[in-house]
Amino acid sequence: MSETVQTGLFRQRLSISKKTLLQSLGDAMRHHRGLIQSIQWTVVIFYLSLLIWPAFMPLPAAYAHFYDNLVLFAQFVFWGLWWPFVMLSMMLIGRVWCGVFCPEGSLSELASRHGLGRAIPRWMRWGGWPFVTFSATTIYGQLVSVYEYPKAALLVLGGSTIAAVGVGFLYGRGKRVWCMYLCPANGVFGLLSRFAPLHFRVDTDMWAKAPRRTPAVDCAPLINIRAMTGNSACHMCGRCSGHRNAVVLAARSPNREILSLRDGDDSRWGAILLIFGLLGIATGAFQWSASPWFINLKQYLAGWLIDHHLFALLRDNAPWWLLTHYPETNDIFTWLDGISILIYIGATALIFGGWILLMLRLAGRILGRSAMPWRLAYGLTPLAGISVFLGLFSLTVGMLKAERVDIGWLPGLRAILLMLGLLWSAWLVRRMIIACNSIPPWRQWAAWSAIMTGACIIVASWVLVFYIW
Ligand code: SF4
Repeated sequence: MSETVQTGLFRQRLSISKKTLLQSLGDAMRHHRGLIQSIQWTVVIFYLSLLIWPAFMPLPAAYAHFYDNLVLFAQFVFWGLWWPFVMLSMMLIGRVWCGVFCPEGSLSELASRHGLGRAIPRWMRWGGWPFVTFSATTIYGQLVSVYEYPKAALLVLGGSTIAAVGVGFLYGRGKRVWCMYLCPANGVFGLLSRFAPLHFRVDTDMWAKAPRRTPAVDCAPLINIRAMTGNSACHMCGRCSGHRNAVVLAARSPNREILSLRDGDDSRWGAILLIFGLLGIATGAFQWSASPWFINLKQYLAGWLIDHHLFALLRDNAPWWLLTHYPETNDIFTWLDGISILIYIGATALIFGGWILLMLRLAGRILGRSAMPWRLAYGLTPLAGISVFLGLFSLTVGMLKAERVDIGWLPGLRAILLMLGLLWSAWLVRRMIIACNSIPPWRQWAAWSAIMTGACIIVASWVLVFYIW
């Protein structure tokens, strides 16, 4: 047998064994529901303990460490590990977090099993909720310093958990209505999980061949499994694995889902969440505290207020649940601080988001489209995902620095990730534009250049934060 044929057979066997392994893993998830439920309830107990207990403890002394102080430990787990790595996991393994670990999802589903079972109201199906809830939570979290103080974490995360249980109790029967429509992270998870190289693949031919009467799958996010073509809404819980011999856990190219988008498949609200939410509001929220422009803005506004004898906004009498107020650590926001944060984040969202939108519009015009080419915005998802990861990872870095961990590798890692996000997006946008094959190449390149000019503002802002300020 020739060497080429042998190599081909070896590759074929390897791919079969990989496929079998993934299928087995998916089937194991289906058959070991008890184990998954045990994991879920362990996470619920761990989550509630770290959320509630530290909120009633004194704030840590300056010399305390995360390994000997529960408040710092909870802070490290929530903001140093949980959020950055859950975001990253979306791009690596899809929404496994939602289907296997998320405490809010588990509690909401449990409440829904024993609740009123009402129909999902029309207002809840509005496509703009993921953008609104993500933006509101992100901005409010900055005003109350959710990353630093356990009371603020209890308010923001605990409030979200109570709302999840309330919505679960009212709507659906054993379903995750909260997760599908109102969860502040749902839209972001849906965007990032499109890149996961794992998915539950549905073979529609096999589906059609299976006996007509098979028990329905208890899919908590109410997906029409037969028609499922993407990862965005799937919680990767494994309950449908092997259903009608048509659903299998399988590997795929991380780019396939975005590249297979056609005009009309994309959601306009998804693109707005990407452009103004992830690349705008989240970037502003991560950057304001490091920005000299923020200080300048605050000083200018303070001077203006003093000149006009408007001293009320310089007072620091806002309650802790509205603006950060911790006299014991000398961390107190004045009304002016709160207003400055709102202006800074709002301006960042408008400038960054507006610039990207403008470039997208220009690209659309170059390609001869009269409508906004929303689909092309999805090509920027890798940059958005890495931007959010880097922002959240800065919290991890701050905590590691406080523990005097050597982080000399950090500038290099940040540069590599930024380049990866930019180049990946550049490649995706180019491939998406090439799909418009009736357009002359020079116009394709011009449209691509416009979109990447829009994206560069995000990279430039991180270069300022990481290497210049
Ligand atoms: S389609 Fe539904 S049941 Fe199947 S893995 Fe996804 S969330 Fe679970």
